[in-house]
Amino acid sequence: MDLRQPPPNLPQAWGRNKGILQEARFIFQSMTDKKTSASQKAPKKSPSGDGLDTPIQFCPGVGPMRASILGRLGVETVRDLFWHIPRYYEDFHNLSKISQLRPGQVVTVLGNAVSVQERIPQNRNKVRHILQTVIEDETGAMLAVWFNQSYLADKIRVGTRLLLHGRTDLYDRMMQMSSPKHRIVDDDDDSTQGVEPIYPLSEGLTQGALRKILRSALDRFGGACQEFLPVGILEFHQFPLRLEAFRILHFPKHGEGAPTDRCEQEMELLKDGEAGFAQTLAAGDPHSLWEKARKRLVFEEFFIHQFLLRRYHGQVKKQIGVSHPHPAPDPWAQRIEIIEDGPSAWPALFIESLPFQLTADQKKVCREIEEDLFSPAPMNRLLQGDVGSGKTVVSLYAMTIAAAGGRQAALMVPTEILAQQHADTIRRLTHCLPGVRTVQLAGCAAAERRQALESIANGSAQFVVGTHALFQEKVEFARLGLAVVDEQHKFGVEQRQRLIEKGIHPDLLVATATPIPRTLSLTLFGDMDISTIVSLPPNRPSLITRWTQWDKEEKVWGFVDGEIAKGHQVYVVCPIIEPSENAPHLPSTEEAFERLSQTFLPHRRVEILHGRHSAQVKGDLMERMRAGAVDVVVATTVIEVGVDLPNATVMVILGAERFGLAQLHQLRGRVGRGCSKSYCVLVTPSRIPPYAQQRMKIMEKTRDGFVIAEEDLKLRGPGEQFGIRQSGHLKFHLADPLRDIHLLREAHEAAAKLYQDDPGLDRPGSERLKEEMLNVPSRLEFRRPS
Ligand code: ADP
Ligand code: MG
Repeated sequence: MDLRQPPPNLPQAWGRNKGILQEARFIFQSMTDKKTSASQKAPKKSPSGDGLDTPIQFCPGVGPMRASILGRLGVETVRDLFWHIPRYYEDFHNLSKISQLRPGQVVTVLGNAVSVQERIPQNRNKVRHILQTVIEDETGAMLAVWFNQSYLADKIRVGTRLLLHGRTDLYDRMMQMSSPKHRIVDDDDDSTQGVEPIYPLSEGLTQGALRKILRSALDRFGGACQEFLPVGILEFHQFPLRLEAFRILHFPKHGEGAPTDRCEQEMELLKDGEAGFAQTLAAGDPHSLWEKARKRLVFEEFFIHQFLLRRYHGQVKKQIGVSHPHPAPDPWAQRIEIIEDGPSAWPALFIESLPFQLTADQKKVCREIEEDLFSPAPMNRLLQGDVGSGKTVVSLYAMTIAAAGGRQAALMVPTEILAQQHADTIRRLTHCLPGVRTVQLAGCAAAERRQALESIANGSAQFVVGTHALFQEKVEFARLGLAVVDEQHKFGVEQRQRLIEKGIHPDLLVATATPIPRTLSLTLFGDMDISTIVSLPPNRPSLITRWTQWDKEEKVWGFVDGEIAKGHQVYVVCPIIEPSENAPHLPSTEEAFERLSQTFLPHRRVEILHGRHSAQVKGDLMERMRAGAVDVVVATTVIEVGVDLPNATVMVILGAERFGLAQLHQLRGRVGRGCSKSYCVLVTPSRIPPYAQQRMKIMEKTRDGFVIAEEDLKLRGPGEQFGIRQSGHLKFHLADPLRDIHLLREAHEAAAKLYQDDPGLDRPGSERLKEEMLNVPSRLEFRRPS
């Protein structure tokens, strides 16, 4: 098959706007589908095949039962098994012999329980249960006791083999450990000889059994695990070959540098599950063989991922999309003379009549977008800019270009409030364009909606604004030429996909106010074109952020009162709508509304707003807010994204410890938009967890979204960052874009070079890689596009 040609069974406009990886999967899935249909004629692959795609149940030691348990761990093929990487290792070389123990040491011991006694103390004040065992190894015996852990009595029996870790002391002249950390070493366990991997498990599977399965799988299928990375890379980094790398990660030998520090923290990980993974593995010696093996596999993940992105991008570029005509006159000319005010003049008119000068950055990104619009290749661009950087006008400019060329432009936003606001903005900024019609599919009555649908279908509406309603079946566009998705992180990949399918390869612009650190944008968006607005519009007022505690509440409201007296407006945000029994200390909008309107600010106009209110109510309130008829809005995070009321100068966030940095930054972005000095007040209980404290301090320190994004990344890890995990992007087995950023960069370059030399992977030597690519679907985690 020639990979350079898009597979013929690809649906139109396939997934341009999905998570890029999902697209990649989509392409390759179609290819795999083809493969399957071909193989329906051919005899099915023999179960005794020796490729990495062999289903796991044909692995030695795995029957249907174990196969289903492994399935729960995401292991379906031999390849998946190889990628089932240990969480950490235990080094049995560092075991202490019982006869050599001294009191006061922290040690690890391996032995058998030779007696187990349960005692229930008479006086059951604090200690309700004692489990006392005698543990023996080949050199001697010691005691181990556990207090109030009665469940252990079912697990630890005479003959149980145990790994114990803890501090020794003397008790009745015998060496003892009290409540040591422990692990039961099962019979299957052939482990206790060297460095042993500890895997993520699932009910019904033991470490020992999994180890055995892995050992025999590496023996049996190792031959299929051929190297495919460019030789130059392997040599430069002194990477071990692929099979050897897997061997080292699964079964490192003593001295190969597997991170096995036998510290308290590591034993903690026994309980911690996955969270501890990166932490422990990060502790490796950077020059060790183990670390090189890890990097070899990380590089592979990045490399395949980057190649797929590059390929995908190349494919999109080859599609024939809409080529929007150049407007006349040129909106960027020094002097604009508008002779005729037909559609072609709209972009120039639009720029002319803006109530402000575009910033240099805004102009720059307008030009970048424009180039894409003029070209026949479909645009696939991310518009990035911090909260308040003025992305809306830029999107609108793009929309007027589309309209000027006789196409329709759709603007999709995540909330009804925002849809209403954007529709208003569009109407305001385009009222001087004769013949332009804007309709909205959000918060409108049935009759209005019917009309809107009609004008979308017959093409008389050029601008269409809406929420998810936009991609519903009933909506039919006459000539959709540009789809803009605002606050793109709020949408799933499929939703964006469905909007785009309303046209034939329309251009796509996605705007995001959650700045993605460059490290990550490279990973997530790969070769998607990115336009960034760096600087904020001029004359932005200063914005001061202060973190305070509940006991200063009265002062906060006093300050709020003062701001209102100056004619300003205030948002108060709470994490929940109504008081909750489960979380009695969490401030709710209902409570806060009552306290403010009755106790603290009875003389002010206080209103409440949350997700349960109808679109109508929300719209009305925002309108009254805009008209200055409301002083304080107590709200949930419904106002988190996009809301733009320049007269609001104070944002009070109650229960601020409950919000992540991205959300706090978004919320704060609702103020500081006009010309008056603005404030954000973060209110928390006096005792909050250390991470939450760090978040508050970061918020106090900086207003720069990019800095905050980087900090967020450090605090939470890349997957959690800014909701990326939710938006259905990628999951690597081992790679961590932040930790291994230099490898990511190299992989990026190497993949680009390979794509240039051999885009279809048809050259000799590329076979292995091609095979791996085909298997990406099973290796990366996404939902299948609908
Ligand atoms: P965001 O990038 O967060 O979506 P908006 O597009 O809502 O930001 O813009 C924030 C505010 O800044 C709006 O009130 C908008 O009218 C205003 N604005 C945008 N560009 C400029 C500019 N060049 N000069 C002055 N104000 C601007
Ligand atoms: Mg916006």
